[in-house]
Amino acid sequence: MTRTKLSRRTFTGALLATSALSACAVQTAPAKAHVVVIGGGFGGATAAKFIRLEDPGIAVTLIEPKSEFVTCPFSNYVIAGFKQIGEITHNYNALTGTHGVRHVRDIAVAIDPATKTVRTGGGQSIRYDKLVVSPGIDIRWGAIEGYTEAAAEILPHAWQGGAQTLLLRRQLEAMPDGGVVALALPPNPYRCPPGPYERISVIAHYLKTTKPRSKILALDAKDAFSKQPLFQDGWNALYPGLIEWVPLNKDGRITQVIAGEKTLVSEFGQRHRAAVVNVVPPQFAGKIARDAGLANPDGGSAGWCPVDPITFESTRIKDIHVIGDASIAGAMPKSGFAANSQGKFVAKAIAAALNGRPAFAPVYANTCYSLLAPDYGISVADIYRATPQGIVAVQGAGGVSPRTPADAAQFRHLEATYTRGWYSSATREIWGA
Ligand SMILES: Cc1cc2nc3c(=O)[nH]c(=O)nc-3n(C[C@H](O)[C@H](O)[C@H](O)COP(=O)(O)OP(=O)(O)OC[C@H]3O[C@@H](n4cnc5c(N)ncnc54)[C@H](O)[C@@H]3O)c2cc1C
Repeated sequence: MTRTKLSRRTFTGALLATSALSACAVQTAPAKAHVVVIGGGFGGATAAKFIRLEDPGIAVTLIEPKSEFVTCPFSNYVIAGFKQIGEITHNYNALTGTHGVRHVRDIAVAIDPATKTVRTGGGQSIRYDKLVVSPGIDIRWGAIEGYTEAAAEILPHAWQGGAQTLLLRRQLEAMPDGGVVALALPPNPYRCPPGPYERISVIAHYLKTTKPRSKILALDAKDAFSKQPLFQDGWNALYPGLIEWVPLNKDGRITQVIAGEKTLVSEFGQRHRAAVVNVVPPQFAGKIARDAGLANPDGGSAGWCPVDPITFESTRIKDIHVIGDASIAGAMPKSGFAANSQGKFVAKAIAAALNGRPAFAPVYANTCYSLLAPDYGISVADIYRATPQGIVAVQGAGGVSPRTPADAAQFRHLEATYTRGWYSSATREIWGA
């Protein structure tokens, strides 16, 4: 195995990081290099673990303020009442204990590419040889007039897991039978393309089973959405008359909220007042990525981070890899499955670079499963390759659930089982031993 030449400063930084590894760490020799990972979600926690699996000689530090991570995948089922928040909460014990990742419980506030250091809110300065940035998304506050952090306490977005998930759940529980649940849905691109439509479906399930006189009004800033025929078939079959979806061309785009009145205002001035209002607002890459200059400043992809399709190294700053929702990953959607796939390949790319080997040709994967009811699943799957044109889907390698399978009930039941299987295996792979 070829070793990269280390400067004295790099070596000292790596040694410092190594000395802080947990007592259970498998590593015994001095680290050959130090990788810092910002964000312990789907992308970052995967990358941290798989770098250690690729090469235990590389020291890895994860900067993540939380001690436990609440996933967005399956949060819609908590909102709908058929999962508990504890079932979607994961800790970092296996990452630190079994895999020897050092967890710094702090927020990264600045990246200095010149000195290759990350500064944390608590005042630490942490040097890296390679940096992985996977901070997920931030809400574009103010993109919808009146939608501020304070407004989100009344009109939750629930697009980041945890307190917002529970707030929306409590509001649904408290609303009267016969009330309207209104959703404002964003333009592309955003985190989890089918997520809003899964949310509509499972809220409909909750209303049908507990508050059957209630209705859902979904106001969309788009004219089409992921798995649309499958969702709409399911709505007609499971929840006839319960869901009204209003596309962009029917004045579906919400441009203003009046939080105190629980009211959404459309582009052409229609006002929609509801018992519960869920705003899924426009988004962009997490703040640290934007502040560090990793995101495009303007153009159609402003606020998202351009990357090399093979290594996910930023095309704007060397030795920094951006993965997950924050990155511009060509045809790959912003999903936990995709972030997990990217995390594994970025680990390979970084281990290869630090060992003087050429980059590995990646084959990325994604499947977006959605439940329309606890026993009714649908999915879309794709395989992707890195090409000179960027990351593209391999023709004929993916697929979407059939609209009219021979035994529809059995088929949807099986896909619901696969949905739960994916969640359990993915979260075990990322946060488990
Ligand atoms: C309702 C909903 C349902 C979804 N369902 C699915 C699904 O079924 N399947 C699927 O594949 N995907 C699903 N997704 C999408 C999935 O949640 C995201 O695509 C995925 O979490 C992206 O991973 P990430 O690593 O980019 O970000 P995240 O997983 O959000 O992780 C980001 C982490 O970075 C940390 N962080 C941020 N800034 C800093 C900083 N400055 N310093 C240190 N740490 C920082 C945060 O605390 C967080 O822990 C869903 C999303 C939603 C909203």
